[in-house]
Amino acid sequence: MASNPGPRPVRASRGSALSCKGWPQEAALRMLMNNLDPEVAEHPDDLVVYGGTGRAARSWAAFDAIVRTLRTLEADETLLVQSGKPVGVLRTHEWAPRVLLANSNLVGDWATWEEFRRLDAAGLMMYGQMTAGSWIYIGTQGILQGTFETFGAVARKRFGGTLAGTITLTAGLGGMGGAQPLAITMNEGVAICVECDPSRIERRIAHRYLDTRAADLDEALRLAIEARDARRPLSIGVLGNAADVFPELLARDAPIDVVTDQTSAHDPLAYLPRGMAFEDLHRASEKDPAHFTEEARASMAAHVEAMVGFLDRGAEVFDYGNSIRDEARKGGCARAFDFPGFVPAYIRPQFEEGLGPFRWVALSGDPADIAATDRAVLELFPDNTHLRRWLTMAGEKVAFQGLPARICWLGYGERHLAGLRFNEMVASGELSAPIVIGRDHLDSGSVASPYRETEAMLDGSDAVADWPLLNALVNTASGASWVSIHHGGGVGMGRSIHAGQVCVADGTPEAARKLERVLTNDPGLGVLRHADAGYEHAAAVAAERGVRIPMREE
Ligand code: NAD
Repeated sequence: MASNPGPRPVRASRGSALSCKGWPQEAALRMLMNNLDPEVAEHPDDLVVYGGTGRAARSWAAFDAIVRTLRTLEADETLLVQSGKPVGVLRTHEWAPRVLLANSNLVGDWATWEEFRRLDAAGLMMYGQMTAGSWIYIGTQGILQGTFETFGAVARKRFGGTLAGTITLTAGLGGMGGAQPLAITMNEGVAICVECDPSRIERRIAHRYLDTRAADLDEALRLAIEARDARRPLSIGVLGNAADVFPELLARDAPIDVVTDQTSAHDPLAYLPRGMAFEDLHRASEKDPAHFTEEARASMAAHVEAMVGFLDRGAEVFDYGNSIRDEARKGGCARAFDFPGFVPAYIRPQFEEGLGPFRWVALSGDPADIAATDRAVLELFPDNTHLRRWLTMAGEKVAFQGLPARICWLGYGERHLAGLRFNEMVASGELSAPIVIGRDHLDSGSVASPYRETEAMLDGSDAVADWPLLNALVNTASGASWVSIHHGGGVGMGRSIHAGQVCVADGTPEAARKLERVLTNDPGLGVLRHADAGYEHAAAVAAERGVRIPMREE
C-alpha cells in the first residue's frame, strides 16, 4: 500500500476489456473513476465531484483501497462502503448488489452541520451529496434534463409554452447550477447568470452550456434586453456576488420575468458572503466557521429579500432545491418562504407517475454507443414528442464529460423497457461494451426532503423518511448492482434522506432478469408513495398499470 497517497488525475478505462472479475464490479470501478475524472468532477484533487463538498471517496487512501478491492471482488461478494471508506467484504450471492454504500447518515438529534463537520475533520465521514458518493454522476448533463423540464414547466405555466421573449435571473454556475443557462436557452429564453468564481464562468463557456460573459452588469442587461426583444435565446454569465447583484437589479427595476438560484446555499460555508473576495472564501470559512455562517446567512437574506421583491413585481420566483429559503430565514429574512420550491410548483405530477431522471453511461467510452441508445429509446416511445425534442437537442448540444452518457425522464412501465432493450443491444454486439443504468436520487420514490422533493405533500408526510429506506431495500432485493443510502444531499444536513441504485446491462440473461425487476420496482415505489399520500393520479396510475396497493384492495 502506498504511504500517504495523494491527488493524481483519474480516468476510467474504456473498451470491453475487464480489469475486474465481472462487469458489475468493473462498472462500479469505472463509474467511481469517472466521477473523479477532471472533465467530470468540480474539484477532483479534493475528491469533490459536485455540490459544494460532495465526494466520491473519503480520502485517496480509501480510493485506492476501493479500487484494489473491486478488482478482486467475486461475483458472490459485496463490498461495504461507509461514507467513502471501504470497511468490509462479505459473502452474499449473485443477485445481491456488489457494493452497498451509506453516506453521511447521522442519528436525528446529531444530524447537524456542526456534528458532521466534527466527524469529517476527524476523518470519520464524508459528504456524499447524491450521485457523488454513489458513483453515478454524469457531469452537468445529469441535471440539464431536469432543469430543462423545470424551465419547460415554467414556460407552460406562465408564458404560453416558451421562454422566448423573457429574461431569467439566476446565480451559481457550479456542477448543477451550470445546467441552467443551457436549459433556459433550450426553452428559447434569455438568462443572466451571476457567479462569483470566474473559473466556473469560463468552464461553462468551454462546455457550451453558457453562451457569453458580460464585462459588467450594464453590458449584461443590454445584451439580455436586445436578445429578449429579438426573441433570440441567449445566456450571459456575469461575475459578481448574487447577494449584491440581485438587490442591485431590483433597485434598477430590471425587467426580469423569472428568478431562481443555484448557489451552494445548502452549505453556508460554501456561499460567498457580501464584501468578501472569492479568493478568501476557503480561508475565511475554515478560520471561523461560526462567524462565516452568520455572514453567509445575512447575505442570503439580502439575496432572498431581492427574490421576494421580484415576486412582488409579478415575476415567477422559485427555490431550486438548495435550501436558500431556510438559510435566508435563519439570516433574518421573514418572507423567505413566500415563494415555493420547484417540486410542488412544477414537478410533482410527474413524480406521481413514477417519472424521473433515468440515466445511462456507455462503458465503451464510444459516443456512437450513446447515439445508438438514443435511437433505441426514440423507437421504443415513438409517440412521446417531448422526449423526442429533448433527445434530439441533447444529441446536438450536449458535450459529453468523461464517459459518454445520456439522461431522459421515463416513468413506471417505461424504464425497464429501455433497460431490457439496452441489454439486448449489448448481447447482439450493436453496442461495443455494457451500459450502466442509474438515476439521480432526486426521483419519484427515493427521497424524503421537506424543502424539495417532498415539500408540501398532500397528507403532510413531508419528513417521513421510511420511503427512501424502503426504496434502497427494494432495489437491493431486486438485483441492483450497487445501492446507496445518503443523508443531506443537495439540501444539507438534517434536511433529507435519499437512496440510489445502479444496474449494469452486460448482455447476459441474468442482467435482463435483474433489470426487469429493478427498473420496475424502483419507480413503482414512487407511484406507491404518492398514492399513499393521497394523490389520485398516482392511485389511477397504480390501478391502470397493475401496481398493487394492499390498502386499496378488498
Ligand atoms: P457547486 O458548489 O458546484 O456550485 C455552486 C456555485 O455557486 C459555485 O460555483 C460558487 O462559486 C457559486 N457561489 C457561491 N456563493 C455565491 C454567491 N454569493 N454569489 C454568486 N455565486 C456564488 O454546487 P452545484 O452542484 O452547482 O449545486 C448548487 C446548489 O443546488 C447546491 O445547493 C445543491 O445542493 C443544489 N442542488 C439542486 C438540485 C436540483 O435539482 N435543483 C440538484 C442538486 C443540487
